[in-house]
Amino acid sequence: MDQAELARHTPLMRQYLAAKAEYPDVLLFFRMGDFYELFYDDARKAARLLDITLTQRGESAGAPIPMAGVPYHAVESYLAKLVRAGESVAICEQVGDPNGKGPMERKVARVVTPGTLTDEALLPERRDNLLLAIAAGPSGYGLAWVDLAGGRFLLSEVADADALAAELARLNPAETLVGEGVPWPHAVTALTGLRQRPPWHFDATSAQRELTRFFGTRDLSGFGADGVPLAVAAAGCLLGYLEETQKAALPHLTGLAIESADESVAMDAATRRNLELDTHPSGDTRYSLLGVLDASATPMGARTLRRWLHRPLRDHAELRLRHQALDALIGSGALDPLRERLRAIGDLERILARVALRSARPRDLATLRDGLAAAPGLRATLADIDSPLIHALLERLGAHDGTVALLQAAIIERPPALLREGGAIADGYDAELDELRRLSTHADQYLVELEARERAATGIATLKVGYNRVHGYYIEFGKAQADKAPAHYTRRQTTKNAERYVTEELKSFEDKVLSARERALMRERALYDGVLDALTDQLAPLRQAAQALAEIDVLAALAERADALDWSRPELVDEPVIAIERGRHPVVEQVRDEPFEPNDLALDEACRMLVITGPNMGGKSTYMRQNALIVLLAYIGSFVPAARATIGPIDRIFTRIGAGDDLARGQSTFMVEMSETANILHNATAKSLVLMDEVGRGTSTYDGLALARAAAVHLATANRAFTLFATHYFELTGLAAAFDGIANVHLDAVEYHDPAHGERLVFMHSVKEGPADRSFGLQVAALAGLPRAVIADAKRTLAALERDGRVPTSTMTAPAAAAPSPQSDLFSLPAIDPHMAELVDSLRAVDPDALTPREALDMLYRLRKSLPEP
Ligand code: ADP
Repeated sequence: MDQAELARHTPLMRQYLAAKAEYPDVLLFFRMGDFYELFYDDARKAARLLDITLTQRGESAGAPIPMAGVPYHAVESYLAKLVRAGESVAICEQVGDPNGKGPMERKVARVVTPGTLTDEALLPERRDNLLLAIAAGPSGYGLAWVDLAGGRFLLSEVADADALAAELARLNPAETLVGEGVPWPHAVTALTGLRQRPPWHFDATSAQRELTRFFGTRDLSGFGADGVPLAVAAAGCLLGYLEETQKAALPHLTGLAIESADESVAMDAATRRNLELDTHPSGDTRYSLLGVLDASATPMGARTLRRWLHRPLRDHAELRLRHQALDALIGSGALDPLRERLRAIGDLERILARVALRSARPRDLATLRDGLAAAPGLRATLADIDSPLIHALLERLGAHDGTVALLQAAIIERPPALLREGGAIADGYDAELDELRRLSTHADQYLVELEARERAATGIATLKVGYNRVHGYYIEFGKAQADKAPAHYTRRQTTKNAERYVTEELKSFEDKVLSARERALMRERALYDGVLDALTDQLAPLRQAAQALAEIDVLAALAERADALDWSRPELVDEPVIAIERGRHPVVEQVRDEPFEPNDLALDEACRMLVITGPNMGGKSTYMRQNALIVLLAYIGSFVPAARATIGPIDRIFTRIGAGDDLARGQSTFMVEMSETANILHNATAKSLVLMDEVGRGTSTYDGLALARAAAVHLATANRAFTLFATHYFELTGLAAAFDGIANVHLDAVEYHDPAHGERLVFMHSVKEGPADRSFGLQVAALAGLPRAVIADAKRTLAALERDGRVPTSTMTAPAAAAPSPQSDLFSLPAIDPHMAELVDSLRAVDPDALTPREALDMLYRLRKSLPEP
């Protein structure tokens, strides 16, 4: 907009447009009195996202101004909604003198962005809220992320797009900065809260310079960041963005840490999802592993546990320390009192971040005070515990008597939410404040008396003494009584229904008191700042204490779970082995009403692959996943749902499970299946655990069988990974005889005759040696409510196929004939295996003319495989 055009606007709008010009890409909240207003396109967007009314404000430059607003006291809930939608908001506050001429001075005080939240009201309590930057280079990708509310700044590098997708699934960032003009893979472009930054923001040299300036170091080698230049480039961009949006010092970011991939058990995005670590297809996270596991008492413990779960460690020594700590906690009798004490401790980690950012509120300080004060009791509870890890954590917890004493003296027991109105600093902390407060309290008393006196003198019963910021103290009564106002009343203001007056007495009182009250508030603010300064000086040891408390909380939570759910301590060994006795699925066991059937697993050097067969619904997926989850739990330091578990070194967990869940990506199911399989075949090692469920389902039977067989052979002989290979191709049960290191197991169902319901199947859910001898596909289909007519038709067609060797499409009945029978209500039951439902669906949709012979052959082949042997 040029100067001439700008000049046509009103002064207020000129001010707005100037502020907006600096923040063109974010919503600008423009403070006007008790509202934050948005104008023009911002107003339209906010009206849509927040469901608020779009109105108009007068005219400027000859055109009406679209406007929408939110009340300032409720701003947090609107901000929360906007950041959840991935939007950023610049908050422009009034900073000038309200009685000055022209529009009040205004300034952008902060920019709220999804990845840089620190307000308690805006943050998810039990998960990290991360801002991530990604730099792309010839050697792969560099990642830098910051947990501003926790004070962590981390780097990692990955070699390719698959590994990048795995990191994104692990970190789940709220906001991500990427360079403009880079051909980012889908995993990046699909993120919400994606911000494009100009390429020079990722310049490696200026990143070095800016980071060393920020941390006050000579170079970055002290952080071990020399070997990760791409991650450093990303960190440079991240830091620039933080400084641009926060407009405050960030003293709680004290260094960089590198997360090296070889320290943790790698899991790709699909594996995290397939194992349902912290999500569940139903959306109900109680059915996820984290849902069962998270018994932590503090939000910071919950966040730490989630981090552990997504980053299993490979260091056996460290894991053994955790296992031993759980053993000690369970055996000590200290667990219940410890958890009781932990429950009294608030979110110290985030409070300390707000202290560092100087946005801590009075209640934050009270919570910090009470949390730190609980430390000695906690220490006493754990004094005798036989665990080096817990003693090391107690060491890091440290003693904070001085800080506690300061906070106890300075902050009243139950402070108000905001400092604005005062009343947060305790009486007796500061003599000057006490004196000023005495004056203003005295004033309240005086005003009550004055009001009574003036009422009596004037005979106006509705007379009130009031106060507002602009006009100060006044005497007010209704317009109708105006003629009763005594001569010494001076009119000061007229409102809609009332007249407001002052008197000499009120004016001189006002000078005295107002200044006392204002000075008290100012004094209080200064004292509060002093407390924040004192805390900032102690930031490093205090943050260490918070982290120690979080880890103690996680150990206590894992110990509680292990004890309550009857889990056992796993043994980590150096030999290649996964031996599990009476293992259970940690989540299925909790959500099922019937008892869970435990199963063993024995993989070692001599037997590295199990081919798992059995009917649909037999328990194959559950068995495979439970073993992966047991390994995972052992590798985060938890006990495991098994009678006994002995596990050797594990470097990665891969899963190829299910189909259709990636359809949203626009790839065909089969493409997804094959690219996941390719990733596994390329990357699995002899220390990897691989789950393969029904590989080959996505294509025609013969292709599928051939591919499944080749993948199995490659895994067993070239990768030599520990593999659980569930399949409906009975041909694959022959692999055990042809190759060393492969064995067959199966799950069973028995048929029994139920006079009320006809034939019925009972699933045994127990894993037995050897291949399954038959599959129960047709019975399961009938059980699932497949119309009898369809099953009968399928049998007829199959017989014809066997007789003539070709597909007699003409004998098939149209799907309309197979109207849903009453039993088909069963379809809606979530317990029905999705594969089964899919097969049933496709059968129901059969259109004889549309079916190609090859498709028909495939379908019949499957049906035939699932028929009982004659
Ligand atoms: P498959 O993969 O063979 O089709 P699933 O693993 O999906 O079978 O299991 C089908 C159902 O059987 C699951 O919903 C689960 O509730 C139940 N189930 C599986 N394994 C067990 C077990 N060991 N004990 C009890 N119930 C089980």
